[in-house]
Amino acid sequence: MAKTTKKRRGPQPAAKAELNVPVRVGQTVEVEITGLNHEGAGVGRIEGYTLFVDGALAGEKVQARVDHVKKNFGFAKLASVVEASTFRSMPPCPVYDRCGGCSLQHLAYEEQLRHKQQIVRDNLRRIGGFPVEGEGAIPVHPTLGMSEPWRYRNKAQVPIGEENGALVGGFYAEKSHSIIDMDECLIQHQANDEAVSAVKRIAASLSIQPYDEVRHTGLLRHVVAKIAVKTGELMVVLVTTEETIPRMDELVDAIRTQVTGVTSIVQNVNPDKTNVIFGKKTVTLWGSDVIYDYIGPIKFAISARSFYQVNPAQTEVLYNKTLEYVGATGTETVIDAYCGIGTISLFLAQKSKHVYGVEIVPEAIADANRNAELNGVKNATFETGPAEVVIPAWKEQGIRPDVIVVDPPRKGCDEALLTTILEMQPQKVVYVSCNPSTLARDLKVLAESYEVREVQPVDMFPHTGHVESVALLVRKDMDR
Ligand code: SAH
Repeated sequence: MAKTTKKRRGPQPAAKAELNVPVRVGQTVEVEITGLNHEGAGVGRIEGYTLFVDGALAGEKVQARVDHVKKNFGFAKLASVVEASTFRSMPPCPVYDRCGGCSLQHLAYEEQLRHKQQIVRDNLRRIGGFPVEGEGAIPVHPTLGMSEPWRYRNKAQVPIGEENGALVGGFYAEKSHSIIDMDECLIQHQANDEAVSAVKRIAASLSIQPYDEVRHTGLLRHVVAKIAVKTGELMVVLVTTEETIPRMDELVDAIRTQVTGVTSIVQNVNPDKTNVIFGKKTVTLWGSDVIYDYIGPIKFAISARSFYQVNPAQTEVLYNKTLEYVGATGTETVIDAYCGIGTISLFLAQKSKHVYGVEIVPEAIADANRNAELNGVKNATFETGPAEVVIPAWKEQGIRPDVIVVDPPRKGCDEALLTTILEMQPQKVVYVSCNPSTLARDLKVLAESYEVREVQPVDMFPHTGHVESVALLVRKDMDR
């Protein structure tokens, strides 16, 4: 799980750049790129000093303009390619340079997959100290990618603003509060793009005031569209500063008739001066409160606020691999730590005796219980709380898991949880990770009692730098 926005780094004021390094801010340098970092930037060296060049690829010679220097490394932007990589491809997106949502569109997709496999390997070696080549190496399999790696996102969250008196919606221009209008995002599902465009058009025609982030005025802040890919149901969420929407009936009627497939129109009220998208209050304006989708055979109810994986096709690939690694036969007790809305738990419940899911966000646990009921799943129990507190309590209660699945956020597992896993001694641990560096760090701790049998990267976010993978760990005393 991850957001597909990359960090923006602003240029550095020249005055600050008085460091004893071989480059200075504003300088254009020629540099050979030897690799790609985990954010997808090219890595080069100038007199031993590391320079990260956005937009450059391994094997290239480029001209780059330095825009930020630190003591041990600096950042630069690609100015021109002197010698291009054979894997360089033309980014099809017209706003690729300005948006920042994707960082690898200029690399051929097959090579993106190899790059992600390599990132996992590098982290296991550097941070985990694991062998990844030769005798006794941990197999890191080729990344499972998409045959059609475009239009995969099922959720669009588009900020609305004003430009020369007109309502616009798209993305924030770099380091600014102004919004660049955009009607098409190539990694977004077509239905979401069309829904957002239609809502923008309708809102403009009804003179609905766009939100002004700086002055904190206006009404419409965000338009969110969510498509349930398997059922075709579509939800439109209007995030507004106030509850009252002028000409509300006309607005709802127009969305109903002009947005293909819409089954739910919802308003969320966010009166605060904040860059958090949603406020506390949600009202259904028309249609259903939720849309339904399936991942494999499991049905999910998705509300305006509920978390749901954004690439459903690859989520199924990831969960099937997780299920395969768990290898449940129907007799196992399984713990799903960091369970979110219970997606992995419900997948696992099909094949095991009982699944215990734990998650820190209470709303997600409410969704998990509802989804269990929706699927007639009776062998899953969900509890709200930190995994590192709840799982030790389960241990005290005598729960003895055969397998523990963890799917933590980017910062990885809490140390207390790793200690508990080592004490509970399940036969297997299956680690689903959205961050190879914390994966490697945590596997190193678990390696005290577990053998890392294999790691499978899965491309959940094509054209972005995000690397997801799942690792199978088996207790050392178990037969091979
Ligand atoms: N397994 C789910 C969600 C994974 S995302 C899925 O595949 O959809 C990671 C989840 O961990 C988030 O839902 C987050 O709220 C939760 N989380 C973060 N810290 C936690 C903690 N200390 N204990 C339990 N859950 C936590």
